Amino acid sequence: MVVEILAVGTELLLGNISNTNAQYLSQKCATLGLSVYHHTVVGDNEKRMTDAIKRAMKRSDIIILTGGLGPTEDDITKEVCSKVMGFELVEDAHTKKRITEYFKASGRKNVTENNWKQAVVPQGAKVLDNHNGTAPGLILEAEGKIAVLLPGPPNELKPLFAEQVAPYLRSIQPETICSQIVKVCGIGESRAETMVLDMIDAQTNPTIATYAKTGEVHLRVTAKAENEEQAKKFLKPVVKELKKRFDINVYTTNEDENLEDVVVKLMKKHGLTVTTAESMTGGMLAGRIINVAGASECFKEGFITYSNKAKKKTLDVSKATLKKYGAVSEQTAKEMAKGGVFATDSDICVAVTGFAGPENTTEEPKGLVYISCYIKDKVFVKEFHFTGNRMKIREQAVVQALDLLRR
Ligand code: ATP
Ligand code: MG
Repeated sequence: MVVEILAVGTELLLGNISNTNAQYLSQKCATLGLSVYHHTVVGDNEKRMTDAIKRAMKRSDIIILTGGLGPTEDDITKEVCSKVMGFELVEDAHTKKRITEYFKASGRKNVTENNWKQAVVPQGAKVLDNHNGTAPGLILEAEGKIAVLLPGPPNELKPLFAEQVAPYLRSIQPETICSQIVKVCGIGESRAETMVLDMIDAQTNPTIATYAKTGEVHLRVTAKAENEEQAKKFLKPVVKELKKRFDINVYTTNEDENLEDVVVKLMKKHGLTVTTAESMTGGMLAGRIINVAGASECFKEGFITYSNKAKKKTLDVSKATLKKYGAVSEQTAKEMAKGGVFATDSDICVAVTGFAGPENTTEEPKGLVYISCYIKDKVFVKEFHFTGNRMKIREQAVVQALDLLRR
């Protein structure tokens, strides 16, 4: 089934907010085996929204609309969509009661007058209770087409989708679709694809799709079958083969787990503590580790030693090393990592030093990065040559530093 995501909101067109809902919904549709062919963004304007919905209805089976379900005058998604699909709007007693209760629970006595607008629903639509806001989600089915209407705020949209829309979308598909992710780090996208080209060429069911993320490649295996058990059976040998081919480069097969989650999990499992010594990544590495809930059990301290003086003062990098090899060198990276362990008494320190640009000169070859890891009196160092702009280079360095910690 073909899906179109239609995000509504003039603030999206003005660039005031990013369309993260479309990103989220696309990712979720992929896991459900639904093909998203179009993303559309339209402002809060009746005529243009009508045109956008009509166009989407022609080329897609399912349209997921987000935004414009609020109580104010400019929120018109429900009204416009109902009109296009031929639904009449009626008051829904259940939603009215829920809105009253929602106001009570959030400590407000009376429902704001314009919120009653949200208790009006298209007659015959499926109403999805929103536990994080007043606007209900809605599913409209007419003439073989489906419209799913979801509120714009991500904290309302995500649980509505995960708990109510996803099971519905699963239920209407003639086949059960299951997918499994294989997340790989330390291999570029084109090499990763080459490594599985024979599998991709020969594939019918399951299928493999590769997606590049900064410093990572994700491979999604999707299988169709009569039931879930059968689909999972189809997935198993393909996932096993991918794990064999990518070996140590596979860091997880868990949809919700990222690189830093794996690092923290590993550190905790082995009872190890970690410190970071960063130069060009300026704390981004420490930030990603600390993003993980429970990082306090393993993360000790993070140093941002950007200047040579700081590297000397804080991490005891020798003046001679800096003078002879420079700040971006194998030797400096190693001394930074060692200095980090000695300064904090932690088990591991990972150090990052490099040239992020923007300029590329003979003295400062942009993208040259050294990442070092000091663990149990041993020190490792790896040299990288990243491409891209300053931010991209810094992000890649963080991913590779996390990957080094994992190994
Ligand atoms: P509200 O009741 O808050 O008015 P709504 O369903 O009418 O909700 P909008 O008014 O379109 O939704 O957007 C409300 C907020 O939701 C926006 O200010 C923004 O923070 C967030 N939002 C809306 N659309 C998107 C989107 N496509 N991606 C990410 N965030 C969004
Ligand atoms: Mg609104």
